[in-house]
Amino acid sequence: MSENKACDLCSLDVGVKPFMLNTPEKQYQFCCEGCRGIFEMLHDIKETPVQNDQNQSNKS
Ligand SMILES: [Zn+2]
Repeated sequence: MSENKACDLCSLDVGVKPFMLNTPEKQYQFCCEGCRGIFEMLHDIKETPVQNDQNQSNKS
């Protein structure tokens, strides 16, 4: 069993597909894109470019 991780902004469960935010210091994870965006603004984070598919609508 893998440990459940909490959103770094609102502390909700990020689920099986967390929204990741990579920084030189550490890797954050969030429950939704909104939380990630807010966290970026609050901390003035420049996300390092990563390969990330934009198709989150389809569940498979
Ligand atoms: Zn959240």
